[in-house]
Amino acid sequence: MSEQLAQWLIESGCTIAFTGAGISTESGIPDFRSPGGIWSTSQPVLFDDFVASEEARVEYWRQKSLAAREFADAQPNVGHEILARWEEQGVLRGLITQNIDGLHHLAGSRKVQEIHGTARQVTCLDCGWLDDVGTWVDQYMVTRLAPRCPECDGPLKHATISFGQSLSPEVLEKCSGWARESELFLVMGSSLVVHPAAGMPQLALQQGARLVIINATETPYDDAADLLIRAPLGETLSAVDLAVQKLREPEGGG
Ligand code: NAD
Ligand code: ZN
Repeated sequence: MSEQLAQWLIESGCTIAFTGAGISTESGIPDFRSPGGIWSTSQPVLFDDFVASEEARVEYWRQKSLAAREFADAQPNVGHEILARWEEQGVLRGLITQNIDGLHHLAGSRKVQEIHGTARQVTCLDCGWLDDVGTWVDQYMVTRLAPRCPECDGPLKHATISFGQSLSPEVLEKCSGWARESELFLVMGSSLVVHPAAGMPQLALQQGARLVIINATETPYDDAADLLIRAPLGETLSAVDLAVQKLREPEGGG
């Protein structure tokens, strides 16, 4: 299966990767549904509640300060690194991620669309002011108050898409475009249930792309996939990368 995927990666004129929380579990960040994850103990704060209520904003920051510990020390794993190398080598055209952990950027990927934003920054809901997240989590830990914008006193929130918040139309447009242009659409570590992000494989399929899914558990697209690999990402991508690098070697070289 690794050889088959490697062959398709080399043949494809446009490969788009799509990643979810599963690519970061091997970096120690729990995925959405795992028992130890934050959602097993806390109800996520809905966007409308965040906007409406100071109590909800404080609860939001309490949850984020807990999650910050998971994120702060996490490093890209072999999967992130291979995807970054594939971009550099022209094997990948672009990468759409549902993740907010910033690990693809840390690994060196540059053509990345973070469809749900990034938890590495905070933004002001009123004026759009942006800043790195670190000092704001620290401030919350000391004051236990929801931080406010130094420019306009508006509420500060992670630069992520919260539950009930609309996705950025520009980012969504870019991702949809990539999905439609793709000849090979490679899904990794996503349960493909969170919409509209999970609609991307459908867009790719409608334009005749090949669909490949590497995921530990089942997804609603498994039957539609041209290739389905139900195995851990780190070892799978390592095997595929070995085969890719072999195919890239010049004839008679070595
Ligand atoms: P999900 O939790 O719904 O699905 C993750 C999938 O990855 C699961 O099907 C699981 O079986 C699989 N998986 C886990 N570890 C794997 C591994 N090592 N190898 C192969 N497969 C593995 O995640 P989702 O589809 O991304 O949806 C969750 C939502 O929550 C997303 O919208 C995302 O924004 C957010 N989220 C992000 C992070 C993060 O940034 N790292 C973490 C948790 C949740
Ligand atoms: Zn502001």
